[in-house]
Amino acid sequence: MSRATSESGTRLLLIGPPGAGKGTQAARLAELLGVPAVSTGDIFRWNVKNETELGLQAKAFMDAGQYVPDSLTNAIVHDRLQEADAGAGFLLDGYPRTTEQVSELDRLLHSDGTHLDGVVQLVADRDEVVSRLLKRADEQGRSDDTEEVIRHRLALYDEQTAPLIEVYGRRGLLIEIDGLGPVDDVTDRIVAQLVERGILPGDGESAAS
Ligand code: AMP
Repeated sequence: MSRATSESGTRLLLIGPPGAGKGTQAARLAELLGVPAVSTGDIFRWNVKNETELGLQAKAFMDAGQYVPDSLTNAIVHDRLQEADAGAGFLLDGYPRTTEQVSELDRLLHSDGTHLDGVVQLVADRDEVVSRLLKRADEQGRSDDTEEVIRHRLALYDEQTAPLIEVYGRRGLLIEIDGLGPVDDVTDRIVAQLVERGILPGDGESAAS
């Protein structure tokens, strides 16, 4: 398996609607890149499950399919990215989701003297994501995967998060990927794009070069 070569590590975002397969791809890419996958959704779910103060504050928003307020969300990302394992890069899954979160991430990266290497956008057809989310609701019993809440989460994505695609597009960071089809195919498409941009070494290149 190839690994990222950069001494300073790789910093990527994964963006796309709920149900586009971000979590699955994040875990695979993080492994390939040798960086931690940081999912704000997972952090919130862990806190809800363990009934922490943060979990208690986040739960009502999550159950209603709303975004957790920026102040809370920015604080957990700030803390998580200070941890030692994120010092040499990270893959953020599900953050930022609002323009205020983009500004906060810009501030964090700037104060660390680092920058994003790319923003992977998983593009998936609306009917497909709804049916994936309903299937996941059946399999995992997530309390935010009822049909009504799913519709609300998608509307919120369109209103608050889809505009970020344009923001990162203007910065020349966007890597658009067709998120439909078998999981392995989607990973292959992402890897090919990362290799093309020099973010991952290509086949035959030495990881030490
Ligand atoms: P996810 O697993 O990424 O779909 O996140 C599940 C839920 O956690 C979302 O529906 C939100 O309620 C909350 N959440 C996760 N990430 C964020 C974020 N960046 N901003 C606000 N709320 C978030």
